[in-house]
Amino acid sequence: MTGRDEGRQARARLVLRELWRAYGEVAETRSLACAPGCHVCCSDRVLLTTLEAGLLAEELTATGQHDLLALAARAPATPGPACTHNALARACLAGQEPPADPGPGPGDTCPLLRGGLCAAYLARPLACRVMCSLTRCQPGGAASQDPWWVTVDTVFLQLVEQVNAGGGWGPLPRVLASLGQGGGQGLAVCENLPGLPVPPEHQERLSRLLGQVFSRSLNGQPLGLWINRLRV
Ligand code: SF4
Ligand code: SF4
Repeated sequence: MTGRDEGRQARARLVLRELWRAYGEVAETRSLACAPGCHVCCSDRVLLTTLEAGLLAEELTATGQHDLLALAARAPATPGPACTHNALARACLAGQEPPADPGPGPGDTCPLLRGGLCAAYLARPLACRVMCSLTRCQPGGAASQDPWWVTVDTVFLQLVEQVNAGGGWGPLPRVLASLGQGGGQGLAVCENLPGLPVPPEHQERLSRLLGQVFSRSLNGQPLGLWINRLRV
């Protein structure tokens, strides 16, 4: 990795952590049935960026869970979706049909689930942070979501993808395995944010929310500026 790449990686990590914090604060007001130990949603189909996987791997290493990291990276390869959040948004904004997506399928339990809890909770990817439900999920069932929060979650997922633009994205075992291979074989490529295809009824509220998020100070500069500088 060149010095320039390392600098970008360090900035991207800083921005990613700030986006996680911002999402956590925004979601504090959310009414949920989720509780510690509830883990029906913890599947190996969880999708994350290579940047997030790097932080996840660091957390597992720092907490002495090297074996679990190796095990998770060796978990059977799971199919990823046909396109990323920003690729989907780009197609939607251009009035194009998105690529056909067979869907995630049933999947297996996430390899990082230990005793009903996440082994790397502090570094869990955004896809896990946004996984919430108004009613307790049942095995094989779907989460129950408020449409406003679906919009907010999608926008934050788009922003996290932007932060890793040019990097990889895919299901957790495959992305963890790619970290040691120096490449993103088999992963989708994260894209720049093309815009936000938001339902009309959410646009004004979202604009206010993003105004607050982008004006957060990160090392003396607005978060929005940091995110924009990570465009490729
Ligand atoms: S999303 Fe569903 S399974 Fe996951 S913690 Fe919330 S209620 Fe439990
Ligand atoms: S990384 Fe943690 S929170 Fe996310 S699916 Fe796996 S066990 Fe659950």
